[in-house]
Parts: sequence; C-alpha cells; structure tokens
Amino acid sequence: MVKVRFAPSPTGYLHVGGARTALFNWLYARNQGGTFVLRIEDTDQERSTQESIDQIVEAMTWLGLDWDEYYRQTDRTDAHLEAAQSLLDSGSAYEQDGAWWFRVPPGETVVHDLLAGDVTFNHDQIKDFVIRRSDGTFVYNFVVVVDDADMEITHVIRGDDHLTNTPKQIMLYRALGRKPPKFAHLPMILGPDRTRLSKRHGVTSVLEYRRRGFLPEAMVNFFARLGWSHGDQEVFTRDELVKLFSLKRIGSSAAIFDEEKLRWLNQQHMKLADPSRLVDLVHPFIIETGKVTEEMWSAAGDERLTIGAELLRHRCHTLVDLADMMLALFPVEIEMDAEISLDDRQAEIIASISDALSQTPSFSRDDVERLLHDVLAAQGAKLKDVAHAIRVSVTGRAVGPGLFDILSVIGKRIVVARLRKLLGGTR
Ligand code: GLU
Repeated sequence: MVKVRFAPSPTGYLHVGGARTALFNWLYARNQGGTFVLRIEDTDQERSTQESIDQIVEAMTWLGLDWDEYYRQTDRTDAHLEAAQSLLDSGSAYEQDGAWWFRVPPGETVVHDLLAGDVTFNHDQIKDFVIRRSDGTFVYNFVVVVDDADMEITHVIRGDDHLTNTPKQIMLYRALGRKPPKFAHLPMILGPDRTRLSKRHGVTSVLEYRRRGFLPEAMVNFFARLGWSHGDQEVFTRDELVKLFSLKRIGSSAAIFDEEKLRWLNQQHMKLADPSRLVDLVHPFIIETGKVTEEMWSAAGDERLTIGAELLRHRCHTLVDLADMMLALFPVEIEMDAEISLDDRQAEIIASISDALSQTPSFSRDDVERLLHDVLAAQGAKLKDVAHAIRVSVTGRAVGPGLFDILSVIGKRIVVARLRKLLGGTR
C-alpha cells in the first residue's frame, strides 16, 4: 500500500516548487489508492512560524490537495530522542562537544532513484555529520528518516535538491535497522531564462496566484505539467490527472516555468468551469474594483450574472479580466477600449434604436434582435452601420459575445442609459 508525504518546512509561504512536490505526492497517493501525509517539518524552531503553517495549509486547501494524516515534527521529539539514543548505544553515533555525530561507515551508497536512476556516492566524500545539536535540537537528515520510517512511508517524492542528502539518509536507515523507502527526485523547475526558479522570476507564492485571479484547477494542471506529461495533452481536469498520473511519465530534464502558458491554461479552465461557480469566484474581484457595492451585487441577480459570466468568459485569462468585463452588467460608468465616432446618420439610427428599446416590455435576446432588425429596416440601415458604436458604448469592448445576447443580459435600463449617454456625448 502506497504511503507518501509532503514535508514542508514552515519558514515561508508555499511556493511553486513546493506545490509541485505536494501535488505529485498527492496525485500518486490518489492514483494508487494510497495515503497522503502532510508533515510540517518545524524542528528548526527559530525559522518556523505559525503564520507560515497557516499559509501552507490554506494554499493546499485552495489547491484541493487534501491529506489523510497530519503531523508536526516537534510533536515527535520523544521518538527522535529514542532513535538517536539507539545510535549512540550501538556505536553508530558518538558525542562530541555536546553534539551527537553520525559515524559514516566506509564504502559507498547507491541510490536507486526511480527518476534519476542509480547514483553512487562514495563515502570518502561524506564526512561524519551531526544528528543532534548541542542545544538538543535534531537535524533534518536525521528526523526525516525517523519520521519516514515510523510513518511507514513507501515513496519519498521530492525536489532533486535533496538527492545529495539521500545517501546520508540511507546510511541512517541501515544503522537504525529500518528499510529505506523508494526515492523519486523531481527534476528542478527553471525560469524562462533557464536558471533555477526563484523570486527573481516574479511571483512564486501559490496564494498570490489566487489573488491574481487564477483558478485552483488551472494551477493544479499547470503544476502537473512541470515535469509530468501524457502524450501531447495540455488541458487536464483534476479527475483525469488522478486517473492518468504515474511516476513513469515524469521526465528527467528540468521543467520550465512559463507564465504565459499558465494564463492560457487558466483561460481553458475558465471555459470549462461551471458558470455559477465562476460567479462566486469573481464576486470578490468585482467588489475589489471599488465600483460595485455588495448591494449592487445582490440587486444584479444570480441568473443574470451567471449568463453574463458564461458569455464573457471566453476572452478572459483570469478572474481579474472577467471582473473587469462584468462591470458592464452593473449600473456604473465603464471604460471603453476603443474609439467611437458617430456621424449624424448613425446618431439618428441609434436614437431610434434607443427609443424603441426603452419602450419594449420584453428584453429577451430574441425580442432585442427582432426590435433592432425592425428599426434598422425602417431606417433602411444595416446592423454593421451601428454595431461597433452600440457594442463599445454598452459593453466597453470592441469585441465580445453576440450583440443581442449581451444587450439582453445587460438589460434595458443600463443599455438605454448608455446609448443616451453616447448620443448626448457626441451630438
Ligand atoms: N522539510 C524538507 C524541505 O522542506 C523536506 C524534504 C523532504 O521531502 O525530505 O525541503
């Protein structure tokens, strides 16, 4: 039975690399029907903070990476002490200046890594190392082994920056008489300039992406593709990932973090999302614009907002974009992304359209279409003569969904007001 863990040190927020590691462990557990453990490695008391633990938990919850068991390493100090004492007793460790040192035996250790292959480490290159500091605290390489062994972790899946720690850990398993797990070290993540991904490349905090209007399922899809692939498929739902994930499909070369690709994936997932959920998600972003109050939000009506979100999402990359476009559904002043210049003839046609629209009892899509066609026919005009001016003045955008659909959902009062404003402003 597979049992894996994500073991973050709570010394900062959950960053992109950590989230990818967490996801690969979670996917492997879910794919195998195994157990996923979240273990907070807070032994470094000076650098660990409760705030960081809260943020890690919040980010994992947002991503939907649920865990079956939860531990804090500092709760396990007794087990660590007992294991360290046993190493002292057996002579595998010795005391020096108050610190406890592991005695590296002669020979070599071969790490049979599921991804990196066999990597041989000659013990000549590895010095004796501290397992317990003189202040009584334990060192990562030691506690990670005691915890993974006690928790019966079967696979350690983590970033390849830990590959060089692995021979020390394997020596400790042997000295403790425990069986080492299987190891899979994930290829590193590089920025677009092919250097190791870091803050220099921009945002790396997972929760910052939530703030910037990304959907959790898009982040999960994006993180999965940082190293894992399935043919040339790019868009995966969470269920598909769980079904298809396998360690065998993880590449050996570094993964490139490409934010343009993330934006594209987010657009795809916004198209796949349930429109009423999109409305819930876009709500705080609309309020954040400062133009729409909660009262205006409630007055807008769920159904209208849902239809609006469904129509407008196609050109959006993030919830911030969608919020911006959805402002058109509220009685607020909107910004326009294109110029409108009306000649007298166009103004005359739009004036009669506006009059007719203001008098119609029904503002359904089909009624709006019929009415516009009637007015245009009476005027001997074509829709294309005025469509751009109407669209831009009412929606703020030169391109968008079908004109009748969007007029209908924006509604009579706002449409007529914006057309009147257009006419007032150009005549
Ligand atoms: N606490 C370690 C880290 O955050 C865990 C490494 C491991 O997975 O063994 O890097």
